[in-house]
Amino acid sequence: MTPFQTACQHAFGQTGRLRLAEPLARHGTFAVGGPAEVWFAAANEGEISQIAALAHAQDLPILFAGNGTNVLYADAGARGAVVRVSPEAWSVAEDGATGEATLTAGAGVSLPKLVNDLAERGWAGLEWGAGVPGTIGGAVVSNAGCHGMCIGDTLLAARVLSLRDPAQATVAELPARELELGYRRSRFRQHREIAFTADHRPIAAPRLLVDPVEIILGATCRLTRDDPAAIKARVAHFKQHRKETQPPQPSAGSVFKNPPGDYAGRLIESLGLKGHQIGRAAISAKHANFIVNLGGATAADIISLIALAHASVQDRYAVTLELEVELRGDWEA
Ligand SMILES: Cc1cc2nc3c(=O)[nH]c(=O)nc-3n(C[C@H](O)[C@H](O)[C@H](O)COP(=O)(O)OP(=O)(O)OC[C@H]3O[C@@H](n4cnc5c(N)ncnc54)[C@H](O)[C@@H]3O)c2cc1C
Repeated sequence: MTPFQTACQHAFGQTGRLRLAEPLARHGTFAVGGPAEVWFAAANEGEISQIAALAHAQDLPILFAGNGTNVLYADAGARGAVVRVSPEAWSVAEDGATGEATLTAGAGVSLPKLVNDLAERGWAGLEWGAGVPGTIGGAVVSNAGCHGMCIGDTLLAARVLSLRDPAQATVAELPARELELGYRRSRFRQHREIAFTADHRPIAAPRLLVDPVEIILGATCRLTRDDPAAIKARVAHFKQHRKETQPPQPSAGSVFKNPPGDYAGRLIESLGLKGHQIGRAAISAKHANFIVNLGGATAADIISLIALAHASVQDRYAVTLELEVELRGDWEA
């Protein structure tokens, strides 16, 4: 055991939520990625601060994650800690007779499950998220959305733990207007833009000791009353649409952001790249903006396909695609 693993075992071994040398492939929907020195599902801000202090004491990096549905973890894994932000309580407070309500949800709540539970109780507003397999925290980070809607449409505020000064953690309720939400963008994603080499290989942003320094603990959203049957019908419609248009194999959803006025998938498909395979990964034959793991893929296989699509679209259309998926873990050679 490394000294950090020993310290974490001592602090969190009893919780049943700690794993040492844990393959990150188990914690991301691409199903690739080497071992995290320490992996921990932190249930509350106290545990988050505690593990951050342990990492800080040993000068090791700590990475915060949700369901791992928008990340490509490195084959080398991750030194230090990968911490799933796991507060999972949620509640709805009705605002009197207005037919509206405020949802308060922990960052670790899985969006599709929440949407189903809200539909059952007749609360509308997040139906678009029925097929977005991330957490509430992850959804705020990228202002996730689809079908012309996004979490920013109903988000009121996010509860944020700042570890800018690891010795002095602070918690604040930030109103949505301060979160800098845009298309797949928020203040939580700043400084992680991915550059590309001359041969179109993505370069991960250097690992920070605490990444991100602002951790979303939870969020509040506005909900409206509706007939449960009507909400469920919308949810079923969105799910059916996904089934028809998206591949069933492991993926991280859309690999590239859509460029202004166009679709990354359309551009990639037009170049005949659907189904193109490298190693055990392929550009999906069903949706060209998805890269899928055919079983046994490596992160390196996926990177090679990203480079191929990026180069091909640049050469043919002079469009520079931006990565939607984030590269996380130890990418430095
Ligand atoms: C099949 C499939 C379909 C998808 N469809 C869509 C879609 O239609 N629309 C869409 O927008 N996305 C889609 N996605 C992508 C993904 O589900 C969303 O981006 C989701 O919001 C990510 O949430 P997560 O919990 O998995 O975050 P993760 O992937 O775990 O993390 C994403 C980033 O956020 C950071 N992060 C996570 N949690 C926190 C937190 N609590 N505090 C601070 N930082 C945090 C991480 O460090 C990481 O950099 C799809 C993915 C899949 C696999």
